[in-house]
Amino acid sequence: MTTEHVGLLIANADLVVTMDDDRREIPGGWVAVNDGFVVGVGGPGEEPAAHDVVAANGCVVTPGLVNTHHHMYQNLTRSFAPALSGNLFHWLRTLYPVWSRLDEEAAYVSAWIGLCELALGGCTTTTDHLYVHPRNSGDLISAEIRAATELGFRFHPTRGSMSLSQKDGGLPPDSVVQSDDEILADSERLVGLHHDPRPGAMTRVALAPCSPFSVTPDLMRETAVLAERLDVRLHTHLAEDADEDSFCLETFGCRPIEHFEEVGWASDRAWVAHCIFPDETEIGKLSQWGTGIAHCPSSNQLIGAGLAPVRELRDAGIPVGIGCDGSASTDCASLWLETRGALLLARLRGGADAMMAREALEMATLGGAACLGRDDIGSLSVGKAGDLVVWPVNGVAFAGALTDPVEALLRCGPVVAKHTVVRGQLLVKDGVLTHPGVDEMLGRHRGIAREWLDAATA
Ligand code: ZN
Repeated sequence: MTTEHVGLLIANADLVVTMDDDRREIPGGWVAVNDGFVVGVGGPGEEPAAHDVVAANGCVVTPGLVNTHHHMYQNLTRSFAPALSGNLFHWLRTLYPVWSRLDEEAAYVSAWIGLCELALGGCTTTTDHLYVHPRNSGDLISAEIRAATELGFRFHPTRGSMSLSQKDGGLPPDSVVQSDDEILADSERLVGLHHDPRPGAMTRVALAPCSPFSVTPDLMRETAVLAERLDVRLHTHLAEDADEDSFCLETFGCRPIEHFEEVGWASDRAWVAHCIFPDETEIGKLSQWGTGIAHCPSSNQLIGAGLAPVRELRDAGIPVGIGCDGSASTDCASLWLETRGALLLARLRGGADAMMAREALEMATLGGAACLGRDDIGSLSVGKAGDLVVWPVNGVAFAGALTDPVEALLRCGPVVAKHTVVRGQLLVKDGVLTHPGVDEMLGRHRGIAREWLDAATA
């Protein structure tokens, strides 16, 4: 540590949970961040001088949480009542026409509000899977990236796509699908424009055909080839619903994960959302391939189709991250809540020894980083990205929780981040978003959501 002042010092935490290689947990600890990277982590009495000092008394400090699956535009149709009953396919068929109104303004505003919501829930890096690209809707991914850049959020947008419409045996209507060529050309354009492969990158782009029932096998194949050539990651939904099994058996003559392999996606370049229905052999294959899984606890519960076998996936050595999934199926986008949900669901499925809070937190940090192919986020040690969360573990909700602050963090609550720091900048300070434009943006969001609803019910 030099004698010069560092930019930001988070000091005097009840506990700093580093998630580093030794899983150090430091009572009375501190974290120093300079120029966007962690420059020191330590215990009482070793703190460096800093320009900004944030006291973390009564708080636990963790690495920023990583969100591995989301559809932020869906917050414009949050808890959309007509889609609440019925299965996943019914839910999608009800919402596709409403989403066909998506344009650049709606993508920008929904991402802006979505990122604010994530910051309050302790997330510092998020993906987004935007797969609805209506005709003449403009550059929706660049609009989302503009929102993330303005707010200072670490962002992994994925260029989602749908190319198999109802007339070709798929699920979505014609109005929201594009041709394979159009999708591939736009994917390459977006990677060229925005993807930053360097350590500490704030924006990385992945390629993300939506699901087996909304894209052609050719698009899956060509996307995998393109991702290899551009050296970017691959993302899709996989094994999310029993109907998907029947669809794949009827259409491709095999199960979803076999189809995934057949179209050239079986590798550690890919991470997939949900994976609720792999059988034992398929879990073995996923492990062999190193394919990551985005586990979305609330979405699994709300859609009601089933629960991902997270214990089995983790035991097989598969990278598992946490995702909140879209804001029309997980209407509350809090990574804290999802991490807690992962803990509870694992214990519901496997018994009380099936998971402890530290493992759930590991999934939400290191697991997420592994899904995104990054080793510079998800832990706090010198040289890692300066992304962290200061969680309050005091007050009424934590009264009496004296034995283990990490267990308390996920079992007490509900908890909103006290401070959320990305690249050394406070996005949330004292539980409040630091960007001044939130009220104005909420007004724009309300206007668009109302317009969509009026059009849907006209
Ligand atoms: Zn999803």
